[in-house]
Amino acid sequence: MTKSEISKLDALWSKYVKEKAGYKCEYCQEEGRQLNPQGVWLEAAHIIGRTFRSTRWLLYNGMCLCSGCHSGYDQHRPIEKSIREQVIGLPKYEELCKTKQVIAKNQDYNEIRNKLMADFGEAQAIALFGGTANEEERPSNR
Ligand SMILES: [Zn+2]
Repeated sequence: MTKSEISKLDALWSKYVKEKAGYKCEYCQEEGRQLNPQGVWLEAAHIIGRTFRSTRWLLYNGMCLCSGCHSGYDQHRPIEKSIREQVIGLPKYEELCKTKQVIAKNQDYNEIRNKLMADFGEAQAIALFGGTANEEERPSNR
């Protein structure tokens, strides 16, 4: 895959994760700026870090967190354990830990993109985002 294809998939993954969560932090429940001008900055966080290609673009490897909760999770502060238990759930976490060990060879952009769109819901993806991988955020006309 080219660098540009990788960043398109990252952007698509990120907006699906945030949309799926309804633009709230899945841990502290704070609303994002998409819902409220005083809202927090939301990020699409990888449960299993994105260095692992086999889980990088799985929709279920994502959670929508505010930047505070996200950095606590990534920096292994005590909040990491609470997020793992309350947001992710241990069975899902363990499954992701197994999946990340699969060596991802010859990944195909279209295949990954189609799977990501199907997991999110293709009709909904097209209705919300026009089916493109280009915009980061929700269109403003909604
Ligand atoms: Zn939060």
